[in-house]
Amino acid sequence: MKIKVLGCYGGQQVGFRLTSFLVNDTILLDAGSPAEVLSLEEQHRIRHICVSHTHLDHIKDIAFLADNRCVKRFSGYAENRDITIHSLAKNNQILMKHFLNGHIWPDFTIIPNNDDAILKLCDIEPEVPFSIDGVQVTPISVNHPVPCTGFLLDQDGKQLIYSADSGNTDRLWEIANAQPNLQAIIMDCSFPNANQYLADISGHMTPNGVMNDLKKFKQLGSVPVYLYHMKPESLNLMIDQVEALQVPHLRMLTQADELLF
Ligand SMILES: [Zn+2]
Ligand SMILES: [Zn+2]
Repeated sequence: MKIKVLGCYGGQQVGFRLTSFLVNDTILLDAGSPAEVLSLEEQHRIRHICVSHTHLDHIKDIAFLADNRCVKRFSGYAENRDITIHSLAKNNQILMKHFLNGHIWPDFTIIPNNDDAILKLCDIEPEVPFSIDGVQVTPISVNHPVPCTGFLLDQDGKQLIYSADSGNTDRLWEIANAQPNLQAIIMDCSFPNANQYLADISGHMTPNGVMNDLKKFKQLGSVPVYLYHMKPESLNLMIDQVEALQVPHLRMLTQADELLF
């Protein structure tokens, strides 16, 4: 399994991109920034997007991936005709009502026509696994103000967990502790410690909150834990606060990271 970080921040500024991870060249975990990073050829390899929730920083580039795929198709490109979005039924309904509604963006689930559209929406359910391009994906319900799932990925007997946006949670750690060959966890760490209240009401983590949740993780210190969704303006302060925790194999992701398992 290959995980390329396209964007790993909880805010967009020059040099700081929104959340998106590319799995094995064809699958995205969230779509905050792929159209900003990937060449057109790389974008056209994408066949699936696992959408954790409908906050704009996780869905923005669905719009531009779909548009680019449509232009490519009309230029005669025959492969990878469509992109399937995998998300909770409630989230897919929100995408249709509030995003791909013909007002905010064209409805690419009926463009160019109903039978052969650019975007397909597939409803998923918590803890019901599905397989895409050789990867088994299991959604895990997490703690955020809107319906949100993290994802457990399993390929060739190796597992990775992505928490998506989440405050403290139990179920994710129960599932993490049950994996036979867990390679890494990617988890939320959005705000510095002084903003614990903000983190609590918005369903996010601080470094201290991360430490509290990690007490539930049996492989802490041996399996790497990578943090994402940092607010760019607080990044340097948060790096110091994470280092002060002195947990081996705990660090923040960067946009240069590519994880290989
Ligand atoms: Zn969110
Ligand atoms: Zn977010």
